[in-house]
Amino acid sequence: VKYIVVCGGVISGIGKGVIASSTGLLLKTAGLKVTAIKIDPYMNIDAGTMAPTEHGEVYVLNDGGETDLDLGNYERYLDISLGKDNNLTTGKVYQYVIDRERRGDYLGKTVQIVPHLTNAVQDWIERVSKIPVDETGEEPDVCVVELGGTVGDIESAPFVEALRQFQFRVGHDNFALIYVSLIPVVGGEQKTKPTQAGVRDLRGLGLLPDIIACRCENPLFSATMEKVSMFCHVSPKQVLGVHNVSSTYHVPLLLREQGLLEFFQKRLNLGEIAVGPEMI
Ligand code: ADP
Repeated sequence: VKYIVVCGGVISGIGKGVIASSTGLLLKTAGLKVTAIKIDPYMNIDAGTMAPTEHGEVYVLNDGGETDLDLGNYERYLDISLGKDNNLTTGKVYQYVIDRERRGDYLGKTVQIVPHLTNAVQDWIERVSKIPVDETGEEPDVCVVELGGTVGDIESAPFVEALRQFQFRVGHDNFALIYVSLIPVVGGEQKTKPTQAGVRDLRGLGLLPDIIACRCENPLFSATMEKVSMFCHVSPKQVLGVHNVSSTYHVPLLLREQGLLEFFQKRLNLGEIAVGPEMI
């Protein structure tokens, strides 16, 4: 299984979920089997105890799992059926580690965030990514892992560290990262400084962006994209613009036009996949 992690900075609610689902959809239309895991860095075990006014409507899965709405996006975009383990929360992974500690599984060791919790996160992702989610009943080729919250939060730190280690566990060819950032417009100017700072934080934590997806009200100027490329130390083809569109179902096309599939085909060694315009 190949892993594509989608995380973000600056602020939440800028379209990580939509970009993650759209990336999955493009890979699916190219002929790959795609699954998804959503990580929510909150202490609740699941969204079932959260007021809808707090977190939006709860999305109920086939196995009764009460989860974040994003799981619904994945099921609809990818035409798959997910289970409650596809939504990993801080509460769930702590509960798992504490249950093991009570059983004596750690054989007298001091149980710590690193390595015990971070190992549990990695084991969880690896296990769940292999569960078949469509009618073929086969193991998925690609798992999109969306990390909620923003990189640099206290909340997401154990997950970021787990993902940092995970890139070595699965190897360079099997792990890529999309960083979703915001380009605010001030006085008509598209500002890249928050993106520069966010990417610096990300690199400081040991994760490197393969794609920087820039969310902006309007289409990005080419000068803005060049600036992001220059100051964030990525090639120009790794910078994608995602402006506001009338329907989020246009986002996959926006990403495809900018060569997302060709990029991942090379980066993740996906072999012969359909990347041409005829595929949708
Ligand atoms: P996050 O996962 O970062 O919290 P979401 O993917 O849930 O963000 O998106 C937040 C909101 O922004 C959603 O209501 C979504 O429909 C909207 N949105 C995301 N991307 C776009 C876009 N390119 N154009 C217009 N609206 C968008």
